[in-house]
Amino acid sequence: MSSKKRNWKPQTALVHGGTLRSGFGETSEAMYLTQGYVYQTAQAAEARFKGEEPGFIYSRYANPTVDMFEKRMCALEGAEDARATASGMAAVTAALLCSVKAGDHIVAARALFGSCRWVIETLAPRYGIEATLVDGTDIANWEKAVRPNTKLFFLESPTNPTLEVVDIAAVASLANSIGARLVVDNVFATPLQQKPLQLGAHIVVYSATKHIDGQGRCLGGVILSDKKWIDENLHDYFRHTGPSLSPFNAWTLLKGLETLPLRVRQQTESAGKIADFLAEQPQIARVIYPGRADHPQAEIVKKQMSGGSTLICLDVKGGKQAAFALQNALEIVLISNNLGDAKSLITHPATTTHKNLSDEARAELGIGPGTLRLSVGLEDTGDLLEDIAQALKAAK
Ligand SMILES: *Cc1c(COP(=O)(O)O)cnc(C)c1O
Repeated sequence: MSSKKRNWKPQTALVHGGTLRSGFGETSEAMYLTQGYVYQTAQAAEARFKGEEPGFIYSRYANPTVDMFEKRMCALEGAEDARATASGMAAVTAALLCSVKAGDHIVAARALFGSCRWVIETLAPRYGIEATLVDGTDIANWEKAVRPNTKLFFLESPTNPTLEVVDIAAVASLANSIGARLVVDNVFATPLQQKPLQLGAHIVVYSATKHIDGQGRCLGGVILSDKKWIDENLHDYFRHTGPSLSPFNAWTLLKGLETLPLRVRQQTESAGKIADFLAEQPQIARVIYPGRADHPQAEIVKKQMSGGSTLICLDVKGGKQAAFALQNALEIVLISNNLGDAKSLITHPATTTHKNLSDEARAELGIGPGTLRLSVGLEDTGDLLEDIAQALKAAK
């Protein structure tokens, strides 16, 4: 069943898109746990290797279950092609390394997931790729950082953990004006609430580990772009370096996609209510939530995002001690650095995800000793509000 047959809405594409049924006519997607494939004849093997006959060759290259996941993601994102990876970081690394070579220059927003920052700041320079990190919220900073050898822009929006928003269309248009490409890490927005390709980005990457699985089961990632870029830049790298997603994980992620719209809608609705509640509390110095009128880039949120967010950033008065007391007093919300899960999770970035940054770099990102990131799960909204209220009281 081809997802291109009809102009399906996301909820339909996420249930049927990309489905490849075997001769048994199974309802649910089959899990093809195989490394290799056999050929009827030697001639058929030759034809397949020559690309004259369609079919699978080896699961490092492609696999039917992984293929279903890639096609379903394409239908959701409105992308021509995709490659699924073993983790979100494998997707980010492949998208970056396949876009630049020694002597090229990358400009990236400095508010990035910690490992993305390591790839750009530490790994890339080892191979002669220069990088400049900027405050991505002002397009003038991107313009100022451009050099004659700038080939790539990279950003995340909303950012981790402070939920800053970058104007994707403005950065895409700057990239186009100098013949560079823009890669967007769209994890925090989810594919439902922001469409970077429609905003002009060239490549979109996801950690499927987060909302796409959304139930804490497996790691995964995906890179989406136009067919030409994938054929010319990613295809060979992918085949020969092997960041491939396992068919078992692809199957898990396919099942996750079926319920993604329901989960994201519920989690966003709860998060909006919790953000409003937190903003009223005297113990909370600041709440950053895309969707609230007091978000620092509220105008850009309105322009490029269709929903709020499943995540909330908050600053507790009283620094680390008060933030820890609040975390420890929560009964339903669990302390974890993961996000996008069915279970509500809270993390203290300064001592966990962002502990490797200098105090100065953390301050630049707006991460203080009292900053917490809350990922809202699928629990009853009233129960969550009650849990947060009792924890604030206990932490006083
Ligand atoms: C989690 C995450 C990643 C990395 O994904 P993994 O699946 O953990 O490798 C990259 N970017 C963002 C924004 C993330 O939240």
